[in-house]
Amino acid sequence: MTLIKDKLQNIKLELIELGVCEGDNLFIVADFIRLGYFRVNGLLSAQDVLQVLLEIIGPNGNIITPSYTETDYIWGRELPHFDVNNVPPNNAFAQAIFSLSEKQNVVRSKHPTNSYIAIGPMATDLVGWHNEKYLAYAPMVLLKGMNFKNLLLAMGEDESKGLSVLHAAQEYLGMSTKNYLSGLLAAKYKSSEGKTVVYRRKSVGGCTLGGKKAVGYLINKTKSKVSKTGRGLSILVEWDYAFNWHVEMLKNDRGYFKCHDKACKSCHGSRGYSKRFIFFWLKWIVNIL
Ligand SMILES: [Zn+2]
Repeated sequence: MTLIKDKLQNIKLELIELGVCEGDNLFIVADFIRLGYFRVNGLLSAQDVLQVLLEIIGPNGNIITPSYTETDYIWGRELPHFDVNNVPPNNAFAQAIFSLSEKQNVVRSKHPTNSYIAIGPMATDLVGWHNEKYLAYAPMVLLKGMNFKNLLLAMGEDESKGLSVLHAAQEYLGMSTKNYLSGLLAAKYKSSEGKTVVYRRKSVGGCTLGGKKAVGYLINKTKSKVSKTGRGLSILVEWDYAFNWHVEMLKNDRGYFKCHDKACKSCHGSRGYSKRFIFFWLKWIVNIL
């Protein structure tokens, strides 16, 4: 038990060393396997780490994280059913926040496929309005100008798939509605009139492998830092700084963050990211015939 406590205390010190501090507003994605902290199960482990983060940021800080749920292709026979109170988020960190719903100021958005969950005094403003009328990454786009930081917990550098702001920048520039999967993924939800409705997801950020190009540019600058947390590397970067950089790069070249896998449908077969997407699909058709 002492060993587990020591590990947790070390993670706390490493987060402080990374630059997480009192009053911080954090958009967090986490990889608990790389973090290397485990107590009994994934949820308890995530709850412990969440507690450490809440201790550091204090009562004035806020945390927001994706609490996405399952989708299927629109032609799927049994579409998943979203219910904001009863369908748990698909990742342990969001589940840890969800488990505090009764006790603390926790709000989860009602978006049928891409809900977000937030904890802290700004939770309602951050996600309370986000429902099926908005695009998938709308709460991330809103963070611009709100003094947030993006924390990739144990997901840094070599293993990085890119910063969360990438999807916010894609949506801000209207690219995420031009993914090849836009309109093809769906889930059911209960409307405010009590009817079960099929929601088709319009905005898809897609492949993030090319997003790691950002890490090379943004680390070791004054507004970002990378350091060890548990067994992994974490990145902490000022949201606005990273968001603006991604927007500029995409404005200059919408294909800048495409990955190197020429078979990647998201990067090379989406009109949002590739001018030559038609040729990709022609080649794809020839290959399957
Ligand atoms: Zn790709």
